[in-house]
Order: sequence, then C-alpha cells, then structure tokens
Amino acid sequence: MNPSTVARTPAPAASDAPLRTWGATHTWRPARRVAPHDEGELGAVVAGAGAEGLRVRAMGAGHSFTAAAVTDGVHLSLDHLSGIEAVAPQPDGTSLVTVRAGTRLHALNRVLASLGLAMRNLGDIDRQSVAGAISTGTHGTGARLGGLATQVRGVRVVGADGAVRAASGAAAPGSPERELFEVARLGLGVAGVLSAVTLEVVPAFWLRAQEEPWPLDRVLEQLDEYVDENDHAEFYWFPGTRRALTKRNNRATADEVAAWSGARAGARGVMRTAGARARAVLDEEVLSNGAFEVVNRLAFAAPGMVPRLNSVSARALGAKTYVAPSADVFVTRRRVRFVEMEYALPRAALRGVLDELDAWLRASAEPVPFPVEVRFAAADDVWLSTARGRETAYVAVHQYAPMPHQRYFSAAEQIFTAAGGRPHWGKMHTRTAADLAAHYPLDDVARVRAAVDPAGVFRNDYTDTVLGS
Ligand SMILES: Cc1cc2nc3c(=O)[nH]c(=O)nc-3n(C[C@H](O)[C@H](O)[C@H](O)COP(=O)(O)OP(=O)(O)OC[C@H]3O[C@@H](n4cnc5c(N)ncnc54)[C@H](O)[C@@H]3O)c2cc1C
Repeated sequence: MNPSTVARTPAPAASDAPLRTWGATHTWRPARRVAPHDEGELGAVVAGAGAEGLRVRAMGAGHSFTAAAVTDGVHLSLDHLSGIEAVAPQPDGTSLVTVRAGTRLHALNRVLASLGLAMRNLGDIDRQSVAGAISTGTHGTGARLGGLATQVRGVRVVGADGAVRAASGAAAPGSPERELFEVARLGLGVAGVLSAVTLEVVPAFWLRAQEEPWPLDRVLEQLDEYVDENDHAEFYWFPGTRRALTKRNNRATADEVAAWSGARAGARGVMRTAGARARAVLDEEVLSNGAFEVVNRLAFAAPGMVPRLNSVSARALGAKTYVAPSADVFVTRRRVRFVEMEYALPRAALRGVLDELDAWLRASAEPVPFPVEVRFAAADDVWLSTARGRETAYVAVHQYAPMPHQRYFSAAEQIFTAAGGRPHWGKMHTRTAADLAAHYPLDDVARVRAAVDPAGVFRNDYTDTVLGS
C-alpha cells in the first residue's frame, strides 16, 4: 500500500454550535473556525490571525478534560491534515513514520498494521489526534516505556509568523532547534501548530493479555515484580473494596501468535471459545460500557448503593487470557461518559497514596462507582513530561459525568500533591505555574515561547495558568 493514499478523515461541516470537550467539561465559541487543507493554508491562517490580533489554537479530538484546546480566537481543525507522508525503515529494525498532525490514532494504527508496523505503546483509547495526544503527554503503561511524546523523533511546526519549521530530536542539545523540538513534542501547542510529526515505530507485534481479579493487597505486596516483570502492567481498584482487576500484557511468542491468528481468522474475534468470548464481552461491559452505564445510573439514583455495586462489579470480573495484535489489546471502547483527574507520582509513593485515598473514601462514604486506574512509566527526559526524571506510577480517579466529582477530586488532588504528584496536562486539576515550576524547566519553556511566539498568539487561559503567560 502506498502510504500517501491513506484515507483522510473528513472535516466536520462548519457550524455555529458551541464546541465542547468529550467529557463536557468546557464549552466555548471561538471567533472563527478554520480547517486548512494543507500546510501552506495553515501558515496563512496563523499569520493572518496574528495580524488581526486574534489568538490561535488547534483542537484534535477534543478529548482533553482541561481547557487546553479552548480559544476565543481562531479555532483550527487539522482534520484535513491527516494520513502518513513517509515511512523510512531504520537499520535497527524500527521505522520513522512521518504522519500529518491531525491523523487520528485509530487511523494511524490501521495503516501501520497494513505496513507491518505498530506504535511501541499506546493509551487506552485511540480516538485522539496524533498532535493532541502528544501535546498533553498521553501515555499508556509499561515500566520500561515512556509516553507517546518519547516516540517522537521530529516535528514540523507552524510558527506565529506562518512559517513552517522542522525540528529534530537529533539536533544538538541546547541548540534552538532542539529546544523548539522539546516544547513542540509536548507543550500544549504553545510552540506553534504542529503540521506533521515523525514517530519511531516498531515491527508489528502481538500481545498476550492476562486479566485476573486479585486482592489489592496482593498487588501492592508484589508491586515491583508485578510492574517490572511485565511489558505493560496496570490494575483497576474498586473503591470501598480491597479488590483489583489486574491486567498484564506481554509480547506473545511466535507459537501463540500462530495459534491465535488461526482462531481469529476462524472466529473473527480474539476469543478461542464461545464461553471465553462471552466472558470478554461481559468484562468489557462491566468495566467500560453497557452494563457499566447501568451500574452508574443506579449509583446516580441511589448513591447509598455504591459500595454494594462496587463489590458486585469487582466480583463479576473474571480471569481471561487472550492473544491479539498490540493495538487491539491496548485500546478499549469508552461509551460511559466520565470526568477524570490523573496524577503522575514517584512510583515509590504509590502504596501510601492508595492507602490515604482508601481511608478518605471510607471516612467520607463518597459514592464513586468508577474504579481507580493505576499505570506505570519509565523515567524520561522530555521537558514537560509528567514522568520526567523519575519512575512513575499514574493514578487516575474518575467519576460518572452526571455525579458530583468536586469533593472526591479535591481530596484526591491534595493527597497526590502532597506525594509530589504532577497532573496530567489533559485531565482535571487545579495546579498553577507557580507550583509546577518545581517540577518542570518552565524558564526554558518560556525562552522558547518568547523566541517563536513573542506576541503570544498561541496562548490561552489554560496555558497562562499552567505554564505562565
Ligand atoms: C475516554 C478518554 C480516554 C483517555 N485515555 C487516556 C490514556 O489512556 N492515557 C492518557 O495519557 N490520556 C488519556 N486521555 C486523555 C487524552 O489522551 C488527552 O487529553 C489528549 O490530549 C486528547 O487528544 P485530542 O486529539 O483530543 O487533543 P485535544 O484535547 O483536542 O487537544 C489537546 C491539546 O493539544 C493541542 N493541539 C491539538 N492539535 C494540535 C496541533 N496540531 N498543534 C499543536 N497543538 C495541538 C490543543 O490545543 C490542546 O492544547 C483520555 C481521554 C479520554 C476522554
């Protein structure tokens, strides 16, 4: 397949309807909406907006819960800038894939699979755009792996003057190009509008997924081996219980792939038997979708039932093992609308943080029908990465969108902050540049911004709050 023939996502029809985030956490009407068809048009729109004194902000899929994509100026959709531009195989077996910035991860995954390639790691959904996902530090799980921004090797970015600049991670450390690369690959869009991103991808691989309910205490007692001995380890803990659903995904052997690819071809599914398939559907429904929506509606109507509901949900989940292509294992569907806060913690702080959260939930009797999600990442060196410089455990708290979340999130945030936590840039939090400066080189970020965007065209209220104006 010729990569340049990749189907492009059609841009939404122009509309005056307000824009809103996936979680309905923010609603806004920009002064203007533009969906450029190529880099030249994108540059002209950005330069024109700046000349008019309007600010500019691109939006991907609108899946951030924060106001990262909100603007009162020019709203850019990059949906027309979609698809793969180039694939360059490397001597070490990886490939450098240059992808237009508006490409959705699900479209990218499909094309990569058709080329025998895959992203090294992914988050738990694939609806985001490539640019939006990297710009907020989107991550998956894996103690030896970093977030999506660590897979970026180069960018093309449209500056406030409308010019396109290429920046590579191979540029000399300390050079203006390398510094632009740092802020462009993870910087909430303050270094300009990304038009293309070069990602390092790997040969396609399959994962063996093992999902098992465990007592939470067993997970915490064996935490280091649980995390370090698996390629991708995570777990979901049900508030008010001491039960967790563990998920361990590891590279499948050639024999496993051969056996399961035959089963997939035969059954058009990942499950070998009808019983196992029913189990998988039940689990996905219990944790993410139809039955889970029912559970949440019951919780909304009768919050007093939540402890019982969580206990039933935790018990309803069964053990299963299956083998499937990596993207099919990483990605789940999320049909139940929720709001979310996620913090990156020093890994060693995890156990104490979960104990405190458990104590608060029991003392407050706060009704929380959503499990707490725990994932892991290696330390990295990306300037604004939440895993910068330390082995990280991510703890995410969710609440069903119609139910109150303020008390829960506020209590969780105090616990996370006291443990040295860093908020996910795309998920709810109340932190500001004043205290985030202890975690990130915000002066270096400000220097890059001053060089590429002296008039502040790419600012919005959220970037002013978290990065400084
Ligand atoms: C159901 C759900 C599941 C999620 N799962 C995960 C997960 O597993 N792991 C995780 O880490 N996060 C997860 N997230 C968070 C999500 O990955 C991030 O919020 C991500 O930024 C959303 O991508 P987007 O394309 O929707 O970006 P948007 O929210 O639209 O934008 C995010 C930021 O990127 C900027 N931006 C967008 N396009 C460009 C561009 N072309 N150039 C410059 N800047 C740009 C925007 O201005 C904004 O600042 C999840 C969110 C939801 C709703």
